[in-house]
Amino acid sequence: MTAGGWKVDYTLWITIVFLALTGALWLVRRRAHRAGAVEATDPVCGVSFERREAEATEPTPNGETYFCSAQCARTFRDRSGQEAAR
Ligand SMILES: [Zn+2]
Repeated sequence: MTAGGWKVDYTLWITIVFLALTGALWLVRRRAHRAGAVEATDPVCGVSFERREAEATEPTPNGETYFCSAQCARTFRDRSGQEAAR
């Protein structure tokens, strides 16, 4: 084996290890992303989106309600306020 040949092998192994690490990291990140992607539906306009993308949240007896916009959250608050007054 020549010095030149060793150099090529060495670089190749570094590349393989680097690619393996990058791939593993990518898989872990992708899995974490999926775990964090919890769907929520805006009860006002019916739009579905990821919870972490919610513009506004409102606590309800059934847990947190997620809204696509502050406007929808306001509409929801107004509606529940009217129902409570009835
Ligand atoms: Zn909405």
